[in-house]
Amino acid sequence: MSEREKSHLFYQSRRRRPQLDRARGVYMWDVDGKRYLDGSSGAMVCNIGHSNERVLEAMRRQMEKSTFGYRLHFETEPAENLARLTAQRAPEGLEKVFFVSGGSEAVESAIKLARQYAIAVGEAQRTKVISRQPSYHGCTLGALALTGYAPLTAPFDPMMRPMPKIPAPRAYLDGLNPNDPATGHHYADMLEARIREEGPETVLAFMVEPIGGASTGALVPPAGYMQRVREICDRYGVLLIHDEVMCGGGRTGRFFAAEHYDVAPDILVVSKGFAAGYAPLGAMVAHDRIVEPVLDGGGFLHGFTYAGNPLACAAGLAVLEEIETEKLCENAASVGALLKSRLVELMGRHPLIGDVRGQGLLLAFELVADKRTLAPLPRELNAYDKLVEHAYDEGLILYSRRTRGGYEGDHFLVCPPMITTPEQVDEIMDGLERALGRFLAEAAPHLPRAA
Ligand code: PLP
Repeated sequence: MSEREKSHLFYQSRRRRPQLDRARGVYMWDVDGKRYLDGSSGAMVCNIGHSNERVLEAMRRQMEKSTFGYRLHFETEPAENLARLTAQRAPEGLEKVFFVSGGSEAVESAIKLARQYAIAVGEAQRTKVISRQPSYHGCTLGALALTGYAPLTAPFDPMMRPMPKIPAPRAYLDGLNPNDPATGHHYADMLEARIREEGPETVLAFMVEPIGGASTGALVPPAGYMQRVREICDRYGVLLIHDEVMCGGGRTGRFFAAEHYDVAPDILVVSKGFAAGYAPLGAMVAHDRIVEPVLDGGGFLHGFTYAGNPLACAAGLAVLEEIETEKLCENAASVGALLKSRLVELMGRHPLIGDVRGQGLLLAFELVADKRTLAPLPRELNAYDKLVEHAYDEGLILYSRRTRGGYEGDHFLVCPPMITTPEQVDEIMDGLERALGRFLAEAAPHLPRAA
């Protein structure tokens, strides 16, 4: 057995992948020279594309100075500057930034800050964090308790404190008009009902992805939803936490997705695109009103060793600069609109695409067995896995999950980097059509109706 065959590494499964040689822009090459278009920016991470020379240079410069300064021993210039620029871009009042190394850490931090805030203001009975079904907020036990995705949570349920869930506003499945504010209110009012059912005095926070990511497949909330959610949280003294781990960082066309709705949360978390894969980095951004009582009350009892790592923060700063000087949010909006229109056009002539959704370059499509009823494909077909494999063979990387209970409702995120050009949209669509053709040929005999 060769060294490569007997790997000591393990992740989710035994599936092996080719070894990565290099990556540049939207492309990646394996050691055999095969080229892939990174149609999902990794896991919606590499927002500015791979191996950006200006970011690498900024990191090199920082590396020559210091790569680590423990937060209890030193302040560092990159962390200070990135905190300032992040707060400037965050919704009104979110002035305080707490750095972490990833999304789950950011979510854990937000839950714990919310809890300490409640204690500090004399509301220690508030312990419940409401979230949505489906949702994904991370894999650590605190974040997992907020995650509504049974395949990932079920084995750990007995070890976690159950947290209340309300349905995500999937108007397309319920046959409701997403552009009608009555639809947004209908779903937001489920939050109010749940708060009342739980006992408002026991509810600490509501955690929500303003624009959905992996679990819902880029679900855009119906008109009026986010604004009504804010009103309800205010009415019951419940903190509103935006999980912008995936939708933050620019790919929806705005640096923070909150901007689309003109609603300010009390706490916001961001990661993935924040340092765009150049370093592990995330942040919790919180309102002064939340942080000050906690610091006054003895301090925030929380922190990770790598917090505010100067190299990671230098990468984050350079990524932010790149997004702004190259107008990448604007590009995400315009190229995203083009890509979405191409996916919608494909849906019109493809027998299995039942929905296309998302905003900017956070886009997804869902495969169905019946386009009229949106009945899901038979779960045994494992479309979410098969189509990704066909695309991978075709040199196109996609990201998939199952949106209906986690066991069916195969959806596919098409989220290339924010530097994607219209020509690369053609390339993505060509690869996708070839992959879909292969999948359809294989699946057709097993479909309930002739496709
Ligand atoms: N929150 C959301 C919305 C995510 O999409 C993810 C990861 O996909 C996380 C939290 C967890 O982030 P991480 O995998 O960096 O811990």
